Amino acid sequence: MKIPLNRQSAQPIRVQIRDYLSRLIQSGKLPSGGRLPSIRTLSTTIEVNKLTVIEAYSLLEADGLIHARPGSGYFVNTTVIAPTLKSNFAPSQKVIIQENGGGSFLEQFTASLQAQQHLEIIDFSSGFPHASGSDYLHRIAKRALAHAAEDLFRYDFPQGQLDLRQQISQMLVHQGLEVSSDELIVTNGSEQALSLVMRHYIQPGDWVIVETPTYHGALAILESLGAKVIGIPMTGAGMNLELLEQYLHTHYPQLIYTISTLHNPTGITTSTAHRQHLLTLAHRYACPILEDNAYEGLNFEPVPAPIKASDSQDLVTYTSTFSKTLMPGLRVGYLIPTKQHYRHLVKQKLLSDLHSATVSQAIVREFLASGQYRRHLSRLRTHNLQSRNVMLQALSKYFPEGVSWTVPQGGFFLWVHLPDMPIAAICRDAIAQSASALRAIAQNILIATGAAFFPDQQGYPAMRLNFSRSPQEIEQGISILGKLLKRYLISDITGQAA
Ligand code: PMP
Repeated sequence: MKIPLNRQSAQPIRVQIRDYLSRLIQSGKLPSGGRLPSIRTLSTTIEVNKLTVIEAYSLLEADGLIHARPGSGYFVNTTVIAPTLKSNFAPSQKVIIQENGGGSFLEQFTASLQAQQHLEIIDFSSGFPHASGSDYLHRIAKRALAHAAEDLFRYDFPQGQLDLRQQISQMLVHQGLEVSSDELIVTNGSEQALSLVMRHYIQPGDWVIVETPTYHGALAILESLGAKVIGIPMTGAGMNLELLEQYLHTHYPQLIYTISTLHNPTGITTSTAHRQHLLTLAHRYACPILEDNAYEGLNFEPVPAPIKASDSQDLVTYTSTFSKTLMPGLRVGYLIPTKQHYRHLVKQKLLSDLHSATVSQAIVREFLASGQYRRHLSRLRTHNLQSRNVMLQALSKYFPEGVSWTVPQGGFFLWVHLPDMPIAAICRDAIAQSASALRAIAQNILIATGAAFFPDQQGYPAMRLNFSRSPQEIEQGISILGKLLKRYLISDITGQAA
């Protein structure tokens, strides 16, 4: 391969190589799955140092265009999506009003962990990424501990380590959100961030808007605060904004909780126009927004800037986490409060646990500073995209007619909507009856039941599936689930007990 290089240009050679190959990939001249020249071959043909080629390939990898296969070389990512994989998700638009919550988050959380100890189970229920990167994690953790050795023996600032906050603020610029390191607070996962923020805005008896379905861990916090919840239904494009406006007008809620990108559990990402409209409504009714972006960085395609980026009235709080991209066990998340409430939230963080663990913060900082995080994300996205496509194909092949699902452009969940009758009633009993809302409904298949994600613990019949499993597990698990759904449908029609 010949790459025209301008050695007099101010643009570094690695960037010229990256741009040239990037154009070839995007125009299809280097096809999906195709192999790139080896580092040695390319460095000889275009007469550059091997390190320069490695750097160029790392840039392409971080851009999500190529991936490395250990021992075999670099390959172009597969991003082609078959046209049959379009979503026809269109649930009923019923608002749920819940004045006193009845969630069972603790039971669900514990049941999920217990079930995961059984290796024979195909687990589509969990809310964390498939394990990867433990080889470089060891290296990074060792380096992090060596760099930060002194600091690890002290207490830290409640808002978190400055160099970690600086790294996070640089990372956010790439996502269209410009905030300085002193607008950020590092938290113990984003669950703590949600808890601090909700506690700050909500008094018992206050109305709060959530999307339905929504993240059950957030519903549990609202319940513990004695909030009254208005569940505005999700459409295929995000929260139903017409209904939102009606309830803003009649109930004057204290907070809108939204997951704008790769929503949990549906996987839906809202458009720029939807974000702008939501923000306009929040400004008009002076209602603060809590924007939870827990799946940040896991998008297959570019996503609009966060809602917070356009907030001119200091009403939007933003939270995110490294749980979904690195490891939930590190417990590193963060919070960007409104400017007017920053100090108050730092104080609340101090009173809650003084500060987040310095060891975990040092590891995340090292991940970000070394550039390994971008490469890691790129690998994760490639894996997730492939497994999403496998699951979509399996759903089309094995699930009965009338069942619909979302087609997420990232993350690792999709949401399956079971139609109302006759299959739904049966499936609701089979799937949602369980006290834990997580149940191996057939031969060691674990799913997250839809009911858990609604404020009334019921909603409509649905299930959330984590697609970041191996192709074999997906094929096997979805075929079993499909057979089960069909069997319920047939026994319902023939009147036999299911
Ligand atoms: N927000 C959302 C939308 C989530 O899905 C989760 C975890 N499932 C969290 C917040 C909390 O995650 P963590 O505390 O591990 O950052």
